[in-house]
Amino acid sequence: MEPIGLYIHVPFCTQKCPYCDFYSLTNTKQMDDYTNCIINKLYTYRKNLNRTADTLYFGGGTPSTLGAARLGVIIDTAKNCFGLEQAEITVEVNPSGQLEAFFDSLAQKGVNRVSVGMQSSHAEELSLLGRTHTAKQAEMAVAAAHRAGITNVSMDLMVGIQKQTEQSLKESIAFCHDAGASHISAYLLKVEPNTPYGQYQNTLILPDDDQMSDFYLFMVDELEYRGYYQYEISNFAQKDANGILQVSKHNTKYWQGKEYLGLGPSAHSFLNGERFYYDRNLSSFLEGNQPIMDGQGGNQEEFAMLALRLTDGLTNEIWQKKFQKPLPQSYVKKAQLYEASGLVRMKENGFALTPKGFLVSNQLILSIIE
Ligand code: SF4
Repeated sequence: MEPIGLYIHVPFCTQKCPYCDFYSLTNTKQMDDYTNCIINKLYTYRKNLNRTADTLYFGGGTPSTLGAARLGVIIDTAKNCFGLEQAEITVEVNPSGQLEAFFDSLAQKGVNRVSVGMQSSHAEELSLLGRTHTAKQAEMAVAAAHRAGITNVSMDLMVGIQKQTEQSLKESIAFCHDAGASHISAYLLKVEPNTPYGQYQNTLILPDDDQMSDFYLFMVDELEYRGYYQYEISNFAQKDANGILQVSKHNTKYWQGKEYLGLGPSAHSFLNGERFYYDRNLSSFLEGNQPIMDGQGGNQEEFAMLALRLTDGLTNEIWQKKFQKPLPQSYVKKAQLYEASGLVRMKENGFALTPKGFLVSNQLILSIIE
């Protein structure tokens, strides 16, 4: 059987950023309980699933707040339970504090990819996002990862920050490039209702939809100019010496409809055709409450929705491999209608969305597959 991906949601942050809707707490007293609970779950799933994994991703929250010792024990246990031979092991980090010893310790445990939450290289934009680190600290974090031998480093950027301009975005991209990032994840700022940003939305001066679209298209061009090729709506990677894009193997599993097990409050899973998730509640997780079933997954529509987030798009080969039949002609005919408006790029035996198409991906994909 194909190896699965493992995702561990670490629900701790040193402080909450006002725009963030990810599940995390600033009360860090339960880190040991949480670590023990994750370890117990890994053993339980090993027994019940008997599968191997080839990716392990620590997301959050801020996994680095857990510290190298706790992360190390979880990694050892995950290897013990799921093999993780030659695996991609990623840890998201907040670029503050001394990270030298942290990265050295993680590298010894097999971590070979880190994701640095930078968001912007501009002090004012960072301050408006409520981020407490500086761009210099992000640069130092990348350098420290490199020194520890972790050369696959991703940096996060935010698009649509108050006061951001195309020029400042361009400078943030150049900053990531010069710092040595091999991968960039760039997300459009979205105001979520249950966040401080959502509560004082009226006081925020944010780009409107048209300006946001211009920012996005500008960013895609600028990233490509800097050698970062778009492989997914929000993800861009450099090529390695062999010309292979250094994509996130773990996240790519989500878009390719592959199986993954997510542990921790709010973590989602897709296994044996079923989708399920843990409640956004650390106490509930620690009490051992079972995940919530979220129905069957992996049908054709869902697969198409996910695959069309990738610049590879959908082809006969991909569809054949997944469903043992050619790509539905109805999809291809519908996709052709959007080629002239620049939303879709027709390919040999298939099609993909363009960056312009990504901007309206939800409606566009629904229209193609309905
Ligand atoms: S953006 Fe990251 S660091 Fe900030 S609260 Fe959310 S998870 Fe924590």
